[in-house]
This record gives sequence, C-alpha cells and structure tokens, in this order.
Amino acid sequence: MTDTTTPTTAVTTTVADDNVSVEGVPTGLFIGGRWRSASGGATFPVRDPSTGEVLAEVADATPEDGIAALDAAVAAQESWAATPPRQRSDLLRAAFDLVREHAEDLAALMTLEMGKPLAEARGEVTYGGEFLRWFSEEAVRIGGDYRTNPEGTGRAIVLKRPVGPVYAITPWNFPLAMATRKIGPALAAGCTVVVKPAELTPLTTLFLVELFRRAGLPDGVLNVVPSLDAKGLSEPIIADRRLRKLTFTGSTPVGSALLKQAADNVLKTSMELGGNAPLLVFDDADLDTAVTAAMLAKFRNVGEACTAANRFFVQEGIADAFTAALTAKVDEFRIGRGSEEGTTMGPLIDDRAVDKAARLVDDAVSRGARLVTGGQRVDRPGTYYAPTVLDDVQPGSDILTTEIFGPVVSITRFATEEEGIRLANDTEFGLIAYAYTSDFARGQRLAERLETGMLGLNTGVVSNAAFPFGGVKSSGLGREGSHEGIEEYLESVYVLTPDPFAA
Ligand code: ADP
Repeated sequence: MTDTTTPTTAVTTTVADDNVSVEGVPTGLFIGGRWRSASGGATFPVRDPSTGEVLAEVADATPEDGIAALDAAVAAQESWAATPPRQRSDLLRAAFDLVREHAEDLAALMTLEMGKPLAEARGEVTYGGEFLRWFSEEAVRIGGDYRTNPEGTGRAIVLKRPVGPVYAITPWNFPLAMATRKIGPALAAGCTVVVKPAELTPLTTLFLVELFRRAGLPDGVLNVVPSLDAKGLSEPIIADRRLRKLTFTGSTPVGSALLKQAADNVLKTSMELGGNAPLLVFDDADLDTAVTAAMLAKFRNVGEACTAANRFFVQEGIADAFTAALTAKVDEFRIGRGSEEGTTMGPLIDDRAVDKAARLVDDAVSRGARLVTGGQRVDRPGTYYAPTVLDDVQPGSDILTTEIFGPVVSITRFATEEEGIRLANDTEFGLIAYAYTSDFARGQRLAERLETGMLGLNTGVVSNAAFPFGGVKSSGLGREGSHEGIEEYLESVYVLTPDPFAA
C-alpha cells in the first residue's frame, strides 16, 4: 500500500476569460485524516463536459482502500459520538464558514467538472452550504424525552444515540449539496462517515473534505474514496458488519440493488432515488407565475435534477397561452460553457445523456407529439442538447415513463382536475410534484391526493435545508434536511424505570 503522497495537485484549467483558477484541489483519497494515493497508485481522469478536456487525475480507490476508510471511520466512531455536541456543531459551523469563504472556488470547480452555468453553481454553494449551517444548529438540539406508561406503573426515558459509521454515495448532478446533505446530519448526530463521490464529479467533494480538514476535522471522522469501480468498492463496505448506515442519492435501479445488499446486515438506509415529476397547470393559474416557475422547475441544472419537472399536464383552457409563453422563454436560452459570461444553459453531463434526450424526443415525435422548438443536438464541441418543447405528447410515449434528465419539456393536455390528478399519479415514482392554480382549496386537494413527497404549489424550486426533502413510492426512503434529516442518523433507545412513587 502506498501512502506517501499528499496529492494536492492544482487544477490549472482557467474558467474562461475571467481567468479564475482553482488551485490546490486535492486529488487523493482522504483516510484517517491524511491525503494519500490509492493502493497500487491507479488514477482516473475527470473531464470538463463542455470541452471533453481532462481537468485532473484522481486517485482510484480499490476495495482495500474502501475498507481502510471504513476502518478509520470505525476507529473514530466512539470518540466522535462522545464529543460534546457543541464541538460537533462548531466543526460544522467552521466548515460552513470556509465554504462561504471559498464560494467562488467551489462554484468554479462545479462549473468545470459538471458544466452548470456559474450562476447556478453559486446557487448550489449557497444551498449546499446551508446544510452545514442548519445541522451545526441541530447538533445541539438532539433531545430525548420522559414518559409515563399508560398504566401509570412505570416511567420511560427515551434517548437518542448516533446509529454508527455511515457510508454515503453521492451523484454527479449536485456535487456539493448532495455531499453536505449527508455529511452535515451524520456528523451532527455523532456518526463518522465514508463518502464516495460520483466518478464524474469527485473534485468538489474532495475540496469540501479539504475544507473540513482545515476546519479541524478529527482523524477518521470523515473519509473520502473516489473510485471508477463504484460497485467493487461499495460491496465489501456494505457487507461489513461494522457499517451501520447506508445513505444514497442516485438512480432507482442502483438504489434498489443497494437496498438488497443492505438487507443482509439490516442496515439503516436512506434512499433518494429517481423522480418523474408531474407539473400541473390549471386554467385558473396566473400565467406569468406558472411560466416563470415552470422554467425553474424544468431547466434548473439543464434538467439534470431528480426534482426536474418531467411531465407537464396543462388544462385545455390555458394550454395554448402557456405553451406559447413558455416557448418564448425557452428560445431565450444562451447555450455555452458554464463559465462563459451570459451562458444560461450549459452542456449535459456526457454523451449518454445527450443520446437519451434525443431518443426520448424522437420517440415522442414518432408517436404524434408536436415539436414546438429545439429537438436536436447542438453543433459545437461538448455534450449539448437544445432546449426543447413538445406539445400533445401521446400516451405510450417513453418520455412519460422515463426520467428525462435533460432540457426537454413534454406537454400533455387534460380536461378536468380529476383527470389531471390521475395522470400525475400514473407513475411508480413520487418525489415531487408542481402545481399552478389560484384556487387555494384545489391546492389543498392536490396536497392530499398527489402521490408525492414534496409539492411545489405556485413555485418552481422547493429545495431548502430547513425542510424535509424526499420521496414516496419508488422515489425513496427517508428525508434529508430539517429536523427529520438528523433522525435518519439517530436511533431511539428506551429505558424503562419503575414508578418512582410506588411503595
Ligand atoms: P446516474 O445514472 O445518475 O449516474 P447512478 O445511480 O448510476 O446515477 O450513480 C449515483 C452514484 O451511485 C454514483 O456515485 C455512482 O458511482 C454510484 N453507483 C453506481 N452504481 C453503483 C453500484 N452498483 N454500487 C454502488 N454505487 C454505485
């Protein structure tokens, strides 16, 4: 095993013309408080999706490295759990302050490795950082309670304990926020963590972990193992009886496979999986509000979000006006490198993502949908697909049952509220729904009847560290953010005591 280097190579690529460079981003594994190479020394390239150029070579953790990271997390678990909550809180707060201080570096880094426009990357730094601040505040509010049994003959003390070492697997679409959303509550609760970032975007997480190190992270409390072989690395970690919690954000097939693995040791799990979000526009909606919010719900992150509106259902009386107003906005997008001034839409993550968008659009058109705008790849280097609007999408089209993860609007018209709800619920997913109506009672009915973990009512973005994020049905298990978020990393222990007044 080689553990000689401190691989903090600079990412020398500059961000477009304004010459922002991201220096000192670690490219190694972080295990037990030290940066080191992978055993065997293998690395893999991280590319800029807007050009295809290699940004950095990152250490490729082997299964042995994964177990070494778990060893470190296990070794630190007891002392971290015993660390006063105020100290755990202070570490998270210090990390939050460093994230704020390095906001521009983090934003530039995300734009480089993931492609989103700088303005969106800055938004993610704000959003992602909030999980550290929020859970620094929750760390000191972990309570228990004292109860009397119904017979009056006993008293129970219910206390909260950290579940134990956590393995966190994160996706590439929100490289910062998906990491902080797991690391924040885990550390606050007193759990140690091994995190495996997505192989397409590991640099942001590596830099985040470096910021934690600078904030005073005790050895072993947070470890990071990027790897090209996610399955090979993860299986032995999940199979290890010392691990107590698996938290994952990614696709439903992978989440479902991980749940099967987690079943062997009955691991506590949190799964934030795929979505197929309906977006309902009713005749009584305020058109401007609906269009502005729908643009955000669909096109944030180029549509590469599990919360992205996937299926637009628009009531007949407003459909022509809505489609026309939305299309006018879609045609205003300026496509380019995320780092270029004025870019409002960057590339998709890779060729596979472009092929998928193209295939779904072609299938919908072949089944009778009307192509209103877009509908083709963009003729420039990088993995771009034109923002697209399809109207009159027909039942049976693949786009209605597949998570698009791209800048494509699929509109189906409906007549009645009943039909709209039926169409919206006609999916195995249930992460988020969006609805636009000026009738409050209708909004309440939707909240009670839509099969979803979250509902954006007359708004386009719901993500907020203070509120419980998560889905129902095949969209997942558990909630992230808010006070619910820390519960995922805690166990209740109940202690029965006798009636103190009994003779
Ligand atoms: P996407 O298709 O959006 O890339 P994935 O679910 O494939 O989503 O990936 C999300 C995360 O899960 C990434 O970190 C990826 O490396 C990881 N991953 C993918 N397959 C597996 C697997 N079999 N076991 C563990 N992690 C995996």
